[in-house]
Amino acid sequence: MSKGFLLVLSGPSGSGKGTVSAALMEKNKEIKYSTSVTTRTPRPGEVNGENYFFATMEEFEKMVEKDELLEHAHVHTNYYGTPKEFVFNQINQGEIVLLEIDVQGALQVKDKYKEAVFIFLLPPSMDELLDRIRKRGTETEEDIETRFSNAFKELDFVGEYDYFVVNDSVDQAVKDIESIIAAEKLRVKRH
Ligand code: 5GP
Repeated sequence: MSKGFLLVLSGPSGSGKGTVSAALMEKNKEIKYSTSVTTRTPRPGEVNGENYFFATMEEFEKMVEKDELLEHAHVHTNYYGTPKEFVFNQINQGEIVLLEIDVQGALQVKDKYKEAVFIFLLPPSMDELLDRIRKRGTETEEDIETRFSNAFKELDFVGEYDYFVVNDSVDQAVKDIESIIAAEKLRVKRH
């Protein structure tokens, strides 16, 4: 059995990461989603253990202390991290694991696990990005401003990624990621 691989998807808030990765997994059941841990409050409809593992700051710090996270970062106003065990269990079983994480987290993964495949999702424009963050309607005006100004900072890091995908249409973005996966399955050498 061949080893699986790790797919890291980043992109600013409002780039449509959540929508694109949900559509990608719906079409490709073999992709395993890595559920992150966060100290953020659940949004309406979010389910613990599905969207995120919602944790207190104390619980989160314990996980960091015990080295249970592959990476972790302070994003916007909360902490987020990737549980290590799930990721490596799945990869060793030959699965493709999807991480939907921010740039700081992706850089940590790159440091520890170079074989991962890094994809950056871009919005069609910054106006469209702001519009999408606003339309989601789940954040306060202050949060919206933080997320929008962080988007500009994140864009500086596109060059650290292996691929970029423009999310003009969700269908096309999914097809582009499927093409990347198809190519990666045929890769001879991983760094
Ligand atoms: P949201 O609060 O909108 O669900 O996520 C905010 C940001 O945190 C997004 O950019 C998302 O990709 C990022 N994020 C989610 N989970 C993780 C994680 O485990 N690690 C890191 N570094 N970022 C994460």
